Amino acid sequence: MIAIDRVSKWYGEFRVLTDCSTSVARGEVVVVCGPSGSGKSTLIKCVNALEPFQEGQITVDGTRVKERGTNLPKLRARVGMVFQHFELFPHLSITDNLTIAQRKVLGRPGAEARKRGLDLLDRVGLSAHAQKYPGQLSGGQQQRVAIARALAMNPVVMLFDEPTSALDPEMVGEVLDVMVELARDGMTMMVVTHEMGFARKVADRVIFMDRGEIVEDATKDAFFGQPRSERAQQFLSKIL
Ligand code: ATP
Ligand code: MG
Repeated sequence: MIAIDRVSKWYGEFRVLTDCSTSVARGEVVVVCGPSGSGKSTLIKCVNALEPFQEGQITVDGTRVKERGTNLPKLRARVGMVFQHFELFPHLSITDNLTIAQRKVLGRPGAEARKRGLDLLDRVGLSAHAQKYPGQLSGGQQQRVAIARALAMNPVVMLFDEPTSALDPEMVGEVLDVMVELARDGMTMMVVTHEMGFARKVADRVIFMDRGEIVEDATKDAFFGQPRSERAQQFLSKIL
């Protein structure tokens, strides 16, 4: 579903990604971890072309991200993305947050968009909040709305960038529960997170990045059993 092939990226002189290759198969859940500044956010932003890269290629569901003629808005509509900060539209109600892109990007009729949005709001356990504004919800609730909003677009893959790291601890669980359910429903997911409990529960593979390189790309059991590299071992011993 996602193929990342020898991707390198520079910010000026600074090489932020070095020869990164990996893939995510349909229905697979891949967790990406690694120290701060190792390039995790940059790598997943390259997948939906939020960041350009100079070398290599990324293919999402058969579409090459870096090619003249690739319709980026269309590509991004198929790739759901949830960030650390919830990024809901503060001036729009929850319902409008859930429907605006469906209507504007996919051209869905209002009633249909509304039905899909409200179904998903129900799925994340928030149907009682449809008329509220983001500022009236807790961080955990806003993040669940952000997930529902991404799902409303019928993405073929979902990217998450530390979706729980800005939340108060008591709200982390409710967001992870939604993500676990999504993973068990068969969604293809690439998730930057340090929540190793989540990784143990649903990840198929774990990627460990350090200084712009994919240092480790292993099955969950191999990664938690015995990471090959010393850098990954050190990292795990700090966060577990
Ligand atoms: P964190 O865990 O803190 O989120 P990360 O692994 O997601 O870190 P990135 O945000 O991908 O790391 O950043 C990788 C490196 O690229 C860092 O050294 C960062 O300072 C640098 N970087 C990120 N964005 C830019 C930019 N726009 N211009 C220059 N350097 C950047
Ligand atoms: Mg990051």
